[in-house]
Amino acid sequence: MRALAKLAPEEGLTLVDRPVPEPGPGEVLVRVEAASICGTDLHIWKWDAWARGRIRPPLVTGHEFSGVVEAVGPGVKCPQVGDHVSLESHVVCHACPACRTGNYHVCLNTKILGVDRDGGFAEYVVVPAENAWVNPKDLPFEVAAILEPFGNAVHTVYAGSGVSGKSVLITGAGPIGLMAAMVARASGAGPILVSDPNPYRLAFAKPYADRLINPLEEDLLEVVREVTGSGVEVLLEFSGNESAIHQGLMALIPGGEARILGIPSDPIRFDLAGELVMRGITAFGIAGRRLWQTWMQGTALVYSGRVDLSPLITHRLPLSRYQEAFQLLASGQAVKVILDLKA
Ligand code: NAD
Ligand code: ZN
Repeated sequence: MRALAKLAPEEGLTLVDRPVPEPGPGEVLVRVEAASICGTDLHIWKWDAWARGRIRPPLVTGHEFSGVVEAVGPGVKCPQVGDHVSLESHVVCHACPACRTGNYHVCLNTKILGVDRDGGFAEYVVVPAENAWVNPKDLPFEVAAILEPFGNAVHTVYAGSGVSGKSVLITGAGPIGLMAAMVARASGAGPILVSDPNPYRLAFAKPYADRLINPLEEDLLEVVREVTGSGVEVLLEFSGNESAIHQGLMALIPGGEARILGIPSDPIRFDLAGELVMRGITAFGIAGRRLWQTWMQGTALVYSGRVDLSPLITHRLPLSRYQEAFQLLASGQAVKVILDLKA
Protein backbone atom coordinates (compact mmCIF):
# COMPACT_ATOMS: atom_id res chain seq x y z
CA MET A 1 0.00 0.00 0.00
CA ARG A 2 1.00 3.64 -0.47
CA ALA A 3 1.60 5.66 2.71
CA LEU A 4 2.89 9.17 3.48
CA ALA A 5 5.57 8.73 6.12
CA LYS A 6 8.17 10.60 8.14
CA LEU A 7 11.17 8.35 7.57
CA ALA A 8 13.98 10.29 9.27
CA PRO A 9 14.33 13.15 11.79
CA GLU A 10 14.37 15.88 9.13
CA GLU A 11 12.03 18.16 7.12
CA GLY A 12 9.57 16.63 4.65
CA LEU A 13 7.49 13.50 4.16
CA THR A 14 7.96 10.60 1.75
CA LEU A 15 5.47 8.51 -0.22
CA VAL A 16 6.44 4.93 0.59
CA ASP A 17 5.31 1.40 -0.19
CA ARG A 18 4.32 -0.57 2.91
CA PRO A 19 2.69 -3.97 3.54
CA VAL A 20 -1.01 -3.75 4.47
CA PRO A 21 -1.14 -4.12 8.31
CA GLU A 22 -3.24 -6.84 9.96
CA PRO A 23 -5.75 -6.15 12.74
CA GLY A 24 -4.99 -7.85 16.08
CA PRO A 25 -7.52 -8.65 18.83
CA GLY A 26 -9.89 -5.70 19.39
CA GLU A 27 -8.64 -3.89 16.27
CA VAL A 28 -10.03 -3.15 12.82
CA LEU A 29 -8.42 -2.58 9.42
CA VAL A 30 -9.78 0.55 7.70
CA ARG A 31 -9.45 1.17 3.94
CA VAL A 32 -8.93 4.92 3.88
CA GLU A 33 -11.05 6.88 1.36
CA ALA A 34 -10.36 10.52 2.27
CA ALA A 35 -7.96 12.31 4.60
CA SER A 36 -7.54 15.93 5.57
CA ILE A 37 -4.42 17.90 6.43
CA CYS A 38 -4.26 19.63 9.81
CA GLY A 39 -1.87 22.22 11.25
CA THR A 40 -0.25 19.42 13.27
CA ASP A 41 0.68 17.68 10.01
CA LEU A 42 2.42 20.90 8.90
CA HIS A 43 4.47 20.88 12.13
CA ILE A 44 5.48 17.28 11.45
CA TRP A 45 6.33 18.15 7.84
CA LYS A 46 8.45 21.17 8.88
CA TRP A 47 10.12 19.19 11.71
CA ASP A 48 9.84 22.13 14.11
CA ALA A 49 10.72 22.11 17.82
CA TRP A 50 7.39 20.49 18.80
CA ALA A 51 7.77 17.74 16.18
CA ARG A 52 11.39 17.08 17.15
CA GLY A 53 10.31 16.58 20.76
CA ARG A 54 7.32 14.36 20.00
CA ILE A 55 7.65 12.35 16.76
CA ARG A 56 9.68 9.15 16.58
CA PRO A 57 10.25 8.19 12.91
CA PRO A 58 9.47 6.02 11.02
CA LEU A 59 5.81 7.03 11.27
CA VAL A 60 2.84 7.09 8.87
CA THR A 61 1.25 10.53 9.32
CA GLY A 62 -2.38 11.73 9.23
CA HIS A 63 -5.06 11.82 11.90
CA GLU A 64 -8.12 13.28 10.14
CA PHE A 65 -9.59 10.62 7.86
CA SER A 66 -12.49 8.36 6.95
CA GLY A 67 -12.93 5.05 5.21
CA VAL A 68 -14.52 1.62 5.10
CA VAL A 69 -13.92 -1.26 7.53
CA GLU A 70 -12.08 -3.89 5.46
CA ALA A 71 -11.45 -6.52 8.16
CA VAL A 72 -11.94 -6.96 11.90
CA GLY A 73 -9.65 -8.68 14.40
CA PRO A 74 -10.64 -11.35 16.94
CA GLY A 75 -13.33 -10.31 19.45
CA VAL A 76 -14.59 -7.24 17.54
CA LYS A 77 -18.40 -6.91 17.46
CA CYS A 78 -18.65 -3.29 16.31
CA PRO A 79 -17.90 -1.89 13.75
CA GLN A 80 -18.51 -4.53 11.09
CA VAL A 81 -16.89 -5.17 7.72
CA GLY A 82 -18.30 -2.70 5.19
CA ASP A 83 -19.21 -0.01 7.72
CA HIS A 84 -18.32 3.57 6.75
CA VAL A 85 -16.33 5.19 9.54
CA SER A 86 -14.68 8.38 10.79
CA LEU A 87 -11.77 7.99 13.18
CA GLU A 88 -11.30 9.36 16.66
CA SER A 89 -7.58 10.12 16.68
CA HIS A 90 -6.97 9.69 20.41
CA VAL A 91 -6.24 6.11 21.45
CA VAL A 92 -6.85 6.03 25.21
CA CYS A 93 -5.74 3.61 27.93
CA HIS A 94 -8.95 3.02 29.93
CA ALA A 95 -6.83 2.56 33.06
CA CYS A 96 -5.46 5.95 34.20
CA PRO A 97 -7.30 8.17 36.71
CA ALA A 98 -8.59 10.43 33.90
CA CYS A 99 -10.03 7.51 31.94
CA ARG A 100 -11.49 5.91 35.05
CA THR A 101 -13.39 9.10 35.83
CA GLY A 102 -14.77 9.40 32.29
CA ASN A 103 -12.26 12.06 31.19
CA TYR A 104 -10.89 10.00 28.27
CA HIS A 105 -10.11 13.21 26.33
CA VAL A 106 -7.29 13.95 28.80
CA CYS A 107 -6.07 10.35 29.22
CA LEU A 108 -2.57 10.38 30.72
CA ASN A 109 -1.41 7.78 28.18
CA THR A 110 -3.05 9.11 25.01
CA LYS A 111 -1.51 7.86 21.77
CA ILE A 112 -2.54 9.95 18.77
CA LEU A 113 -2.94 8.37 15.32
CA GLY A 114 -0.39 9.86 12.91
CA VAL A 115 1.57 11.37 15.83
CA ASP A 116 2.44 8.55 18.24
CA ARG A 117 1.38 5.58 16.07
CA ASP A 118 0.73 5.01 12.37
CA GLY A 119 -2.05 7.20 10.96
CA GLY A 120 -4.35 7.62 8.00
CA PHE A 121 -2.31 9.17 5.17
CA ALA A 122 -2.19 5.61 3.84
CA GLU A 123 -4.40 3.26 1.87
CA TYR A 124 -4.95 1.13 4.99
CA VAL A 125 -4.58 1.62 8.73
CA VAL A 126 -5.19 -0.53 11.81
CA VAL A 127 -6.98 1.15 14.75
CA PRO A 128 -8.68 0.00 17.97
CA ALA A 129 -12.29 -0.91 17.13
CA GLU A 130 -13.68 1.73 19.49
CA ASN A 131 -11.88 4.50 17.55
CA ALA A 132 -13.98 3.81 14.44
CA TRP A 133 -17.19 5.88 14.58
CA VAL A 134 -19.84 4.43 12.24
CA ASN A 135 -21.53 6.95 9.90
CA PRO A 136 -24.57 6.59 7.65
CA LYS A 137 -23.46 5.34 4.22
CA ASP A 138 -24.73 8.46 2.44
CA LEU A 139 -22.37 10.80 4.34
CA PRO A 140 -19.64 11.88 1.85
CA PHE A 141 -16.20 10.51 2.81
CA GLU A 142 -14.65 13.99 2.58
CA VAL A 143 -17.11 15.31 5.18
CA ALA A 144 -16.57 12.22 7.34
CA ALA A 145 -12.81 12.92 7.17
CA ILE A 146 -13.23 16.29 8.93
CA LEU A 147 -15.52 15.16 11.76
CA GLU A 148 -12.46 14.86 14.00
CA PRO A 149 -11.51 18.59 13.92
CA PHE A 150 -15.23 19.39 13.89
CA GLY A 151 -15.37 17.61 17.25
CA ASN A 152 -12.79 20.09 18.60
CA ALA A 153 -15.14 22.91 17.64
CA VAL A 154 -18.22 21.18 19.09
CA HIS A 155 -16.41 20.43 22.35
CA THR A 156 -15.40 24.10 22.70
CA VAL A 157 -18.81 25.57 21.84
CA TYR A 158 -20.71 23.21 24.16
CA ALA A 159 -18.29 23.37 27.13
CA GLY A 160 -19.32 25.27 30.27
CA SER A 161 -22.71 26.93 29.90
CA GLY A 162 -22.88 26.49 26.09
CA VAL A 163 -23.78 29.37 23.77
CA SER A 164 -27.55 29.33 23.37
CA GLY A 165 -28.84 32.91 23.62
CA LYS A 166 -25.38 34.24 24.40
CA SER A 167 -23.09 36.76 22.74
CA VAL A 168 -19.94 35.08 21.45
CA LEU A 169 -16.53 36.20 20.19
CA ILE A 170 -14.60 33.66 18.10
CA THR A 171 -10.90 34.49 17.72
CA GLY A 172 -9.28 32.65 14.80
CA ALA A 173 -11.22 31.72 11.64
CA GLY A 174 -9.07 28.73 10.76
CA PRO A 175 -10.91 25.47 10.02
CA ILE A 176 -11.84 24.88 13.67
CA GLY A 177 -12.90 28.47 14.40
CA LEU A 178 -15.09 28.44 11.28
CA MET A 179 -16.65 25.15 12.35
CA ALA A 180 -17.32 26.71 15.77
CA ALA A 181 -19.10 29.64 14.09
CA MET A 182 -21.33 27.12 12.28
CA VAL A 183 -22.13 25.30 15.55
CA ALA A 184 -22.73 28.57 17.43
CA ARG A 185 -25.13 29.78 14.71
CA ALA A 186 -26.97 26.42 14.66
CA SER A 187 -27.22 26.51 18.47
CA GLY A 188 -28.89 29.90 18.84
CA ALA A 189 -25.94 32.09 19.85
CA GLY A 190 -26.00 35.80 19.09
CA PRO A 191 -24.57 38.15 18.31
CA ILE A 192 -21.63 36.13 16.94
CA LEU A 193 -18.41 38.07 16.26
CA VAL A 194 -15.51 36.41 14.43
CA SER A 195 -11.98 37.81 14.15
CA ASP A 196 -9.03 36.84 11.94
CA PRO A 197 -6.34 38.92 10.22
CA ASN A 198 -6.53 36.66 7.14
CA PRO A 199 -9.27 38.11 4.85
CA TYR A 200 -9.50 34.91 2.79
CA ARG A 201 -10.43 32.86 5.82
CA LEU A 202 -12.51 35.53 7.55
CA ALA A 203 -14.81 35.67 4.50
CA PHE A 204 -15.83 32.03 5.08
CA ALA A 205 -17.39 33.06 8.43
CA LYS A 206 -19.79 35.54 6.81
CA PRO A 207 -22.90 33.28 6.70
CA TYR A 208 -22.55 32.41 10.40
CA ALA A 209 -21.43 35.72 11.93
CA ASP A 210 -23.17 38.97 12.79
CA ARG A 211 -19.89 40.89 12.59
CA LEU A 212 -16.51 40.05 11.06
CA ILE A 213 -13.43 41.75 12.54
CA ASN A 214 -9.99 42.05 11.00
CA PRO A 215 -7.87 42.91 14.07
CA LEU A 216 -5.20 44.48 11.84
CA GLU A 217 -7.70 47.00 10.51
CA GLU A 218 -10.01 47.60 13.46
CA ASP A 219 -9.75 47.79 17.25
CA LEU A 220 -11.32 44.52 18.38
CA LEU A 221 -12.36 45.83 21.80
CA GLU A 222 -14.00 48.90 20.28
CA VAL A 223 -15.99 46.77 17.83
CA VAL A 224 -17.08 44.36 20.58
CA ARG A 225 -18.34 47.27 22.70
CA GLU A 226 -20.05 48.88 19.72
CA VAL A 227 -21.94 45.64 18.90
CA THR A 228 -22.68 44.34 22.42
CA GLY A 229 -22.66 47.40 24.65
CA SER A 230 -20.37 46.07 27.34
CA GLY A 231 -18.69 42.88 26.11
CA VAL A 232 -19.38 39.29 25.05
CA GLU A 233 -20.53 36.54 27.39
CA VAL A 234 -18.39 33.83 25.80
CA LEU A 235 -14.93 33.81 24.21
CA LEU A 236 -14.11 30.84 21.95
CA GLU A 237 -10.35 30.99 21.26
CA PHE A 238 -8.96 29.18 18.19
CA SER A 239 -5.99 31.30 17.13
CA GLY A 240 -3.30 30.43 19.67
CA ASN A 241 -2.19 34.03 19.07
CA GLU A 242 -1.02 35.92 22.16
CA SER A 243 -2.63 39.27 21.34
CA ALA A 244 -5.90 37.57 20.35
CA ILE A 245 -5.94 35.82 23.73
CA HIS A 246 -5.37 39.07 25.68
CA GLN A 247 -7.95 40.98 23.64
CA GLY A 248 -10.39 38.09 23.78
CA LEU A 249 -10.23 37.93 27.58
CA MET A 250 -10.71 41.70 27.87
CA ALA A 251 -13.65 41.54 25.43
CA LEU A 252 -15.55 39.40 27.98
CA ILE A 253 -18.06 40.95 30.34
CA PRO A 254 -17.13 40.38 34.00
CA GLY A 255 -18.36 36.91 34.92
CA GLY A 256 -17.95 35.69 31.33
CA GLU A 257 -16.52 32.39 30.10
CA ALA A 258 -13.33 31.83 28.11
CA ARG A 259 -13.00 28.49 26.32
CA ILE A 260 -9.54 28.07 24.91
CA LEU A 261 -8.61 25.44 22.31
CA GLY A 262 -5.87 27.41 20.48
CA ILE A 263 -2.30 26.45 21.30
CA PRO A 264 0.33 29.24 21.41
CA SER A 265 3.64 28.15 19.90
CA ASP A 266 5.48 29.42 23.02
CA PRO A 267 4.45 30.04 26.64
CA ILE A 268 2.70 33.41 26.98
CA ARG A 269 2.52 35.95 29.84
CA PHE A 270 -0.71 37.44 31.05
CA ASP A 271 -2.03 39.55 33.88
CA LEU A 272 -3.86 36.91 35.91
CA ALA A 273 -5.43 39.38 38.33
CA GLY A 274 -6.40 42.06 35.79
CA GLU A 275 -7.52 39.80 32.95
CA LEU A 276 -9.07 36.90 34.89
CA VAL A 277 -9.31 36.90 38.70
CA MET A 278 -10.73 40.34 39.45
CA ARG A 279 -13.14 40.11 36.53
CA GLY A 280 -14.52 36.76 37.70
CA ILE A 281 -13.80 35.03 34.41
CA THR A 282 -14.20 31.25 34.18
CA ALA A 283 -11.58 29.75 31.85
CA PHE A 284 -11.83 26.29 30.28
CA GLY A 285 -8.90 24.52 28.63
CA ILE A 286 -10.35 22.40 25.83
CA ALA A 287 -8.49 19.29 24.69
CA GLY A 288 -9.64 16.91 21.96
CA ARG A 289 -13.18 15.62 22.04
CA ARG A 290 -15.17 14.20 24.96
CA LEU A 291 -15.53 10.48 24.32
CA TRP A 292 -18.13 9.92 23.15
CA GLN A 293 -20.48 12.79 24.00
CA THR A 294 -18.81 15.15 21.53
CA TRP A 295 -19.19 12.63 18.69
CA MET A 296 -22.89 12.21 19.55
CA GLN A 297 -23.46 15.99 19.59
CA GLY A 298 -21.37 16.73 16.49
CA THR A 299 -22.80 13.98 14.32
CA ALA A 300 -26.36 14.95 15.36
CA LEU A 301 -25.67 18.41 13.90
CA VAL A 302 -24.14 17.06 10.69
CA TYR A 303 -26.48 14.13 9.98
CA SER A 304 -29.54 16.37 10.48
CA GLY A 305 -28.16 18.99 8.07
CA ARG A 306 -28.18 21.70 10.75
CA VAL A 307 -24.45 22.10 10.07
CA ASP A 308 -23.12 21.71 6.51
CA LEU A 309 -19.34 21.34 6.60
CA SER A 310 -18.88 21.06 2.82
CA PRO A 311 -18.28 24.82 2.16
CA LEU A 312 -15.07 24.50 4.22
CA ILE A 313 -13.58 21.92 1.84
CA THR A 314 -11.71 24.26 -0.49
CA HIS A 315 -9.33 21.84 -2.22
CA ARG A 316 -9.19 18.14 -3.19
CA LEU A 317 -5.99 16.50 -4.42
CA PRO A 318 -4.82 12.93 -4.98
CA LEU A 319 -2.33 11.55 -2.42
CA SER A 320 0.43 11.71 -5.05
CA ARG A 321 0.14 15.56 -5.03
CA TYR A 322 0.66 15.77 -1.27
CA GLN A 323 3.43 18.39 -1.58
CA GLU A 324 1.09 20.84 -3.33
CA ALA A 325 -1.62 20.03 -0.75
CA PHE A 326 0.66 20.85 2.19
CA GLN A 327 1.86 24.06 0.52
CA LEU A 328 -1.73 25.17 -0.08
CA LEU A 329 -2.59 24.82 3.59
CA ALA A 330 0.65 26.52 4.68
CA SER A 331 -0.14 29.49 2.39
CA GLY A 332 -3.30 30.33 4.39
CA GLN A 333 -5.25 30.42 1.09
CA ALA A 334 -7.17 27.24 1.92
CA VAL A 335 -9.44 26.00 4.69
CA LYS A 336 -9.73 22.22 4.46
CA VAL A 337 -7.54 20.38 1.95
CA ILE A 338 -8.63 16.80 1.25
CA LEU A 339 -6.28 14.06 0.08
CA ASP A 340 -8.16 11.53 -2.05
CA LEU A 341 -6.69 8.11 -1.27
CA LYS A 342 -8.50 6.47 -4.18
CA ALA A 343 -7.09 8.75 -6.87
P1 NAD B 1 -5.14 27.38 12.10
O1 NAD B 1 -3.74 27.66 12.45
O2 NAD B 1 -5.48 26.90 10.73
O3 NAD B 1 -6.05 28.68 12.38
C1 NAD B 1 -5.68 29.68 13.26
C2 NAD B 1 -6.26 30.99 12.70
O4 NAD B 1 -5.99 32.02 13.64
C3 NAD B 1 -5.64 31.40 11.37
O5 NAD B 1 -6.66 31.55 10.38
C4 NAD B 1 -4.94 32.72 11.71
O6 NAD B 1 -4.98 33.65 10.63
C5 NAD B 1 -5.76 33.19 12.91
N1 NAD B 1 -5.11 34.22 13.72
C6 NAD B 1 -3.78 34.51 13.84
N2 NAD B 1 -3.61 35.60 14.61
C7 NAD B 1 -4.86 36.02 14.99
C8 NAD B 1 -5.34 37.10 15.77
N3 NAD B 1 -4.52 37.99 16.35
N4 NAD B 1 -6.68 37.22 15.93
C9 NAD B 1 -7.55 36.35 15.35
N5 NAD B 1 -7.13 35.30 14.61
C10 NAD B 1 -5.81 35.14 14.42
O7 NAD B 1 -5.66 26.35 13.20
P2 NAD B 1 -6.90 25.33 13.32
O8 NAD B 1 -6.57 24.05 12.65
O9 NAD B 1 -8.19 26.00 12.97
O10 NAD B 1 -6.79 25.09 14.89
C11 NAD B 1 -7.06 26.15 15.78
C12 NAD B 1 -6.12 26.16 16.96
O11 NAD B 1 -6.43 25.04 17.81
C13 NAD B 1 -4.63 26.02 16.67
O12 NAD B 1 -3.92 26.82 17.61
C14 NAD B 1 -4.34 24.55 16.93
O13 NAD B 1 -3.00 24.32 17.30
C15 NAD B 1 -5.26 24.28 18.08
N6 NAD B 1 -5.73 22.90 18.25
C16 NAD B 1 -5.92 22.50 19.53
C17 NAD B 1 -6.44 21.24 19.78
C18 NAD B 1 -6.71 20.84 21.19
O14 NAD B 1 -7.04 19.66 21.43
N7 NAD B 1 -6.64 21.75 22.13
C19 NAD B 1 -6.75 20.38 18.72
C20 NAD B 1 -6.56 20.83 17.41
C21 NAD B 1 -6.05 22.10 17.18
ZN1 ZN C 1 -6.10 6.86 30.27
